[in-house]
Amino acid sequence: MTQTSCETSARFAEITARIAAAARSADRDPASVTLIAVSKTFEAADIRPVLAAGHRHFGENRVQEAQGKWPALRADYPDITLHLIGPLQSNKAADAVALFDVIHTIDRPKIAAALASEMRKQNRKIPVFVQVNTGKEPQKAGVMPEDAGAFVIHCRDNDQLNVVGLMCIPPVDEEPSIHFAFLAKLTAELGLQRISMGMSGDYEPAIEFGATDVRVGSAIFGTRS
Ligand SMILES: *Cc1c(COP(=O)(O)O)cnc(C)c1O
Repeated sequence: MTQTSCETSARFAEITARIAAAARSADRDPASVTLIAVSKTFEAADIRPVLAAGHRHFGENRVQEAQGKWPALRADYPDITLHLIGPLQSNKAADAVALFDVIHTIDRPKIAAALASEMRKQNRKIPVFVQVNTGKEPQKAGVMPEDAGAFVIHCRDNDQLNVVGLMCIPPVDEEPSIHFAFLAKLTAELGLQRISMGMSGDYEPAIEFGATDVRVGSAIFGTRS
C-alpha cells in the first residue's frame, strides 16, 4: 500500500466535493457527472477505502490486471460498475465483456465486431464509448475526428453496439479545454448523450465543458509507481 486508507478517503472526499462544485458553477446537476475512480496499478487494499466510502464506479486500463483484483472486491460489493478505459486487443474481448460493465475505448471495426460477438455469446449488452483522437496524434488510440460519425453509425448498424458517447485523452502538451469543447460539440452533433473526458489534472474544466464521465486516478489514490 502506498497510501494509508485515511489519506485515500480524504482525497476521495475532496475530489467528490470539487466535482460537485465544478458542476454547480457550470449550472449543471452534480448528479450528471459520474466520477470513475481509476485504480490501475493500485491493490485491493488501496481501493477498499473508496468502496467503504460508498463509491461504486471504478476504471482499469488492463484486462488482465483487473481480472486479478476485481472478482474478490465484487464478491464484497456486488453493485460495482467497472469501466475499461485502456486499449483493448480483440483476443481479450471475451474477458473484457465478462468483467467490465462499460467500455470507453472502441476505435476500430475489428474491436467493435469482436466485442459485439462476445456480447451476443455472453448475453450481455454493455454500453460503449467511441474513443476519438482529438489531437490527431499518430501514436495514440482513437478514431480521427472526421471519421467519428461514420464509425459510430458502423458500430450501431453493423454491430448493434449500444454507443452511449465519445471519449478522448487530450495531448499532454496542449490546452485540454480546446479538446473538451471539440469533443462536446462532436458528441452533440452525433446525438450522443455521454462525454468521457477529464483526468486528475483537468477534470474541473472537463466538467465545465460538459463531461458526464470523469476518469480520476492519482488525485484519489496517489502517485503511481
Ligand atoms: C490512467 C488514466 C486516467 C487517470 O489518470 P490520472 O492522471 O491518474 O487521473 C484517465 N484516463 C485514462 C484513459 C487513463 O489511462
